[in-house]
Amino acid sequence: MSVFEGKVAIVTGGGSGLGEAISKELAAKGASVVVSDINLPGAQRVVDEIVSAGGTASEIEADTAIPDDSAKVVKYAVDTYGALHLAVNNAGIGGPAAPAGETDLAAWDKVIAINLSGVLYGMRYQIPAMLASGAGCAIVNMASIHGMVAAPGNGAYTAAKHGVVGITKNAAAEYGAVGLRINCVGPGYIMTPLLTANLTDDILEILKTKHSLGRLGRPEEVSHLVCFLLSDEASFITGSYHLVDGGYTAV
Ligand code: NAD
Repeated sequence: MSVFEGKVAIVTGGGSGLGEAISKELAAKGASVVVSDINLPGAQRVVDEIVSAGGTASEIEADTAIPDDSAKVVKYAVDTYGALHLAVNNAGIGGPAAPAGETDLAAWDKVIAINLSGVLYGMRYQIPAMLASGAGCAIVNMASIHGMVAAPGNGAYTAAKHGVVGITKNAAAEYGAVGLRINCVGPGYIMTPLLTANLTDDILEILKTKHSLGRLGRPEEVSHLVCFLLSDEASFITGSYHLVDGGYTAV
């Protein structure tokens, strides 16, 4: 039997990059996956590819910065597949570069709303549905190495990702007694559209040198960790922050 056979999963920001890889691996391992994204065509493309490969998935348009949208996605998952067992609160943006003293305050609010509040809004509605679904439920929230070290020029991103680590620990402490596991992951720089659309080739080359392995990561390398943490093999892991960073934070 596949690892996630009979499980229903939500992946936010599932229409690109890390969310796409996670959605595809969950589906390949037997989960029914709700691919949620603010970009519906992106989510639709990922769902089409999952279904063509023999998996089960459906797309829904949702903005993680809007609480009602998070409630809508959970209701859709339960109405469509009968329950909710797994969630990956992955959607996030980079935001414009500026030091603290020159921060664009509207940009700050937007990064915090999507990258931090969006994670809490997701859990706010996912957790009650998981408690109703019974045992074997788990959540993984997407932090970053910048949940641990600075991203100079992008304080909103660093603050949001540190916040993701914090709210993950809190929620895990609150729900451990009922067996709901909640963890977060901290990727180094991974080749996704978030990076390639925003950074020049020169900057990407410099970034490679900051990883001990001398390269950037691949989305599947993050997805494998996320799927492990969601699986029963991680049954004694909760409230923790797992780096997948090619050695970035080791130096
Ligand atoms: P990406 O841009 O390839 O994908 C992000 C997806 O999120 C897109 O499909 C986008 O449409 C969606 N999205 C954006 N705003 C949204 C919103 N308000 N509501 C719902 N969906 C929204 O980026 P990625 O690299 O795959 O990043 C995914 C997550 O991983 C983010 O949280 C990011 O901060 C984190 N991360 C990325 C890297 C990296 O190097 N790529 C490293 C560490 C952490």
